[in-house]
Amino acid sequence: MSDRHRDHVRPPSWHALSKDDVEQVLQTGPDGLTEDEARRRRVQYGSNRLTPPARRGPLLRLVMQFHNILLYVMLGAVVITAVLGHWVDTGVLLAAVVINAIIGFIQEGKAEAALDAIRAMLSPHATVIRDGHRRELDAADLVPGDWVILTSGDRIPADLRLISVRELRIEEAALTGESLPIEKGTDAVYADAPLGDRYGMAYSGTFVVYGQATGIVVATGGATELGRINQMLADIQRMSTPLLRQIDHFGRVLALTIIGVSAATFVLGTLWRDHAPAEMFMMVVALAASAIPEGLPAIMTVTLALGVQRMARRNAIIRRLPAVETLGAVTVICSDKTGTLTRNEMTVQRFVCAGHVFDVGGVGYAPVGNFSIDGRIVDVAHYPALSMAIRAGVLCNDARLREDNDVWRVEGDPTEGALLVAGRKAGFSQHAGDTAWPRMDSIPFESQHRFMATWHRDPDGDSWLFVKGAPERILDMCEFQLNHDGKRPLDVDYWRRMATDTAAQGLRLLAVACKRGAPTTDCLEFADVEQGFILLALVGIIDPPREEAIEAVSECHRAGIRVKMITGDHGETARAIGAQLAIGVGKPYVTGAEVAMMDDAALRRVAMEVDVFARASPEHKLRLVQALQDDGQVVAMTGDGVNDAPALKRADVGVAMGLKGTEAAKEASDMVLADDNFATIATAVREGRAVYDNLKKFILFMLPTNGGEALIVIAAILFELALPLTPAQVLWINMVTSSTLGLALAFEPAEGDIMKRRPRPPRQALLSGFFIWRVLMVSVLMMTGALGLFLWELAVGTSLETARTMAVNAVVVAEMFYLINSRYILAPVTNREGLTGNRYVIVAIAACIPLQIAYTHAGFMHAIFDSTDLTLLEWGKVTAAGLLVFAAAELEKFVIRRTGLAARLSHA
Ligand code: ATP
Repeated sequence: MSDRHRDHVRPPSWHALSKDDVEQVLQTGPDGLTEDEARRRRVQYGSNRLTPPARRGPLLRLVMQFHNILLYVMLGAVVITAVLGHWVDTGVLLAAVVINAIIGFIQEGKAEAALDAIRAMLSPHATVIRDGHRRELDAADLVPGDWVILTSGDRIPADLRLISVRELRIEEAALTGESLPIEKGTDAVYADAPLGDRYGMAYSGTFVVYGQATGIVVATGGATELGRINQMLADIQRMSTPLLRQIDHFGRVLALTIIGVSAATFVLGTLWRDHAPAEMFMMVVALAASAIPEGLPAIMTVTLALGVQRMARRNAIIRRLPAVETLGAVTVICSDKTGTLTRNEMTVQRFVCAGHVFDVGGVGYAPVGNFSIDGRIVDVAHYPALSMAIRAGVLCNDARLREDNDVWRVEGDPTEGALLVAGRKAGFSQHAGDTAWPRMDSIPFESQHRFMATWHRDPDGDSWLFVKGAPERILDMCEFQLNHDGKRPLDVDYWRRMATDTAAQGLRLLAVACKRGAPTTDCLEFADVEQGFILLALVGIIDPPREEAIEAVSECHRAGIRVKMITGDHGETARAIGAQLAIGVGKPYVTGAEVAMMDDAALRRVAMEVDVFARASPEHKLRLVQALQDDGQVVAMTGDGVNDAPALKRADVGVAMGLKGTEAAKEASDMVLADDNFATIATAVREGRAVYDNLKKFILFMLPTNGGEALIVIAAILFELALPLTPAQVLWINMVTSSTLGLALAFEPAEGDIMKRRPRPPRQALLSGFFIWRVLMVSVLMMTGALGLFLWELAVGTSLETARTMAVNAVVVAEMFYLINSRYILAPVTNREGLTGNRYVIVAIAACIPLQIAYTHAGFMHAIFDSTDLTLLEWGKVTAAGLLVFAAAELEKFVIRRTGLAARLSHA
């Protein structure tokens, strides 16, 4: 770093400096920095990251755990029991409060760590030049002086002074609030220019919506404009989803209701039944403690966080948590074709020239293979149209073919890579081409206009223009074709027919054409490539479907999910590939142009009917999502380009590609596929369904514990019995069951038939008729077991303490058994998989047993909880009560399965 730069107290006004000055000040050049220098600057300037927002410190986080209604109620009870002199109850209540807070604290920490890990996976990348080579870096590694290459869809990784631009348009809403893209240039502007007028700069956090550029990093991390105004990067929201909010709300209403009921009971009991207020108070505390499901929100959050982690391990990175739930309700997946459903390993298989069709041997990127006509190997040099077509494909090309340790790789667009490989097979090397036919300028490929053009000088110094792109586009530019005997007028019908034939075999199509002559100015413009080209050939490229995508599509179909393919490719190609994937078999395809002609009503009809959309552009995707949603579908839509962002935002689950996706697409998405693979979407749907299931299972497990205990206490109050469970005992049960037993359900794997069910209706209320029935039924079962045992024991003369100890154990043992029932909502668990399939369940139950033994037999427990030793016979009775619950719960499932009652109750 120059002294001149270091001496600046304020950074220079980069936008007012010329390009050369910037280079000089930052001591950099077109070869970029050296790695050594970059490392040095990294130490000097730090990493290119914004300091994350101040987190709540651990202490504050711990204190915040006490900030909830339930704990307030419990703390109130602590004070009152202390005033009444019930020291043991005071102690247990206090312990329960503290333990609850600690568990909440640890769980929140875990959930945050999970999200942090995922945030790191989403860190943006940047393309830079270092030591004269292009490299992909983590954007955090950028330093001032780095040369950065921008293409459309990129998020600007640091503040850049632009050095060269090509039709660069940048959306700076993140910085200036201006949502229309700004056209950028390279000129310096006056030093006081406002941010929005600094046309020669690209600022961190804004997006390239169009074009390409190179720029020099002038500020990183906190020194960027974004850092200065301290606006944070879009972040994963707090740990919440619609279902969790619903549960939170439910919990709060329930807590308030319980407090109301308890207060009423207290008043009635003391005034009407003349109970002593102190005794009545203890009953009411028992009631409140038993009925409020304190563990619910914390464990639900953990279940969600675990689900998100599991998905990340399988390459589905969730950016917005509600997507986890929505995934389980998805009814339609709209997927891109290239690279998602197909392998994106392109191989040129055919050149169709005027009069000859050439087959190309070999697969993959290794440049080994012959050219042949009808199986007869031919010499490319004898066919001028073919030679020229191959040359055009190699020159009009931005990809690079590399060989590392005998493995051939393509850097850049695989379609272009395939052309380079075909070129090599014919003896055209890219390097030789670049030297003999230097490129003067180019119009890069954008999927909106579907072609690429370059301007070259041949060895004689004459100018040539080459174009390649979708055949319809290129045909429009051509007036001639190159026949074996020279240039002839274009036979449009021939080419159309050949295009359809080739596409119908599932080959991806490109046309290549050339024209002698230079552009009108010293830049290549759209106007220069509108007409007068000579068509050289159609190129047919295979891109086979991914095996796992075929499997995943059929899995989706079994799961009642429609899969639609939306592609920029030719309709016939799309249909042929679709057929291999079982998408849209025997149905017509619709093109983007046809979609554009339809009004909303017509599109709504077609959207559901048709499964293959060809030659579609991003704006068609948006309309399609809307049409499907209007039809009541829950839509997952994939996308990679900057123009896909609106459709991704609009979709119920926007899915961006992690590898080839632009930062703009990722930013707009709910989920990112780390491997760009369709199969990962199906996996995510499966996991989404599993998470939702587990949340339901946990609720179905938790609520009956509270329900059963509450019923026991209520029955005791109503029938003026001795209280079967004291408040301290109730708290003990809740602690043991919710934090050890219930947690195991968060690890429950997806049920075997999870992808054979229909998608969950999106607006289905969680607390459906079936749910309420199940909770009530099990609550009654629990009560029957525990209270029945308690009363029976009292009747045969057992002491109150022993009867209570048995009641406590009966509830906990019943919960242990019911935990196994709860593994499947409707399916039977009386099989090997059901009983032993989730080792966490077994561990949780095993962990509970010593706790209960200690509760029953340890002296200090006797002192705290008034528990007593039990005989073997008494333990037997307790276990029988648990078994009763288990058997009854399985019987209920059986009846429901047989009668199909669940569905009817769910819709009640
Ligand atoms: P998807 O299926 O994911 O939508 P796609 O690759 O089929 O992607 P595009 O990339 O938009 O869609 O390509 C559309 C058409 O543009 C292709 O069928 C091909 O004819 C042409 N094309 C693709 N890549 C290039 C390229 N690099 N240069 C010139 N033309 C191209």
